[in-house]
Amino acid sequence: MAEYDPDNIFAKILRGEIPSTKVYEDDDTLVFMDIMPRADGHCLVIPKTPCRNLLDASTEQLASVIAVTQKVARAVKEAFDAGGVTIQQFNEAVGGQEVFHLHFHILPRHSGVALRA
Ligand code: 5GP
Repeated sequence: MAEYDPDNIFAKILRGEIPSTKVYEDDDTLVFMDIMPRADGHCLVIPKTPCRNLLDASTEQLASVIAVTQKVARAVKEAFDAGGVTIQQFNEAVGGQEVFHLHFHILPRHSGVALRA
């Protein structure tokens, strides 16, 4: 397992070094809008503590991130009048991960509308 890089872009968002559009925040978790949304309402859920990806996560980090993912998924489904919600999560570059701080994508879905590239 590779090391956690404290200068990854989401760590900088957590430290307030670069801006983000916050959706939800509690002691353990931050949710913000994806900068290149693949669906209207596309947002990202991250733990506030260092964690490279799902393979590296503690039980406590997973529990809080999953609970917040469910809470925010329910809210954005209603807010965007979506028919469903896709949750995505990638691990390591080969697995499609681009930012190396654990995150879950929340993607509201509408019938007949594909995710944008
Ligand atoms: P993944 O690592 O799951 O493949 O993708 C990382 C996600 O982070 C992408 O959907 C990308 O658009 C998003 N992202 C990358 N840089 C930034 C940023 O500076 N701000 C925000 N809000 N999202 C970002």
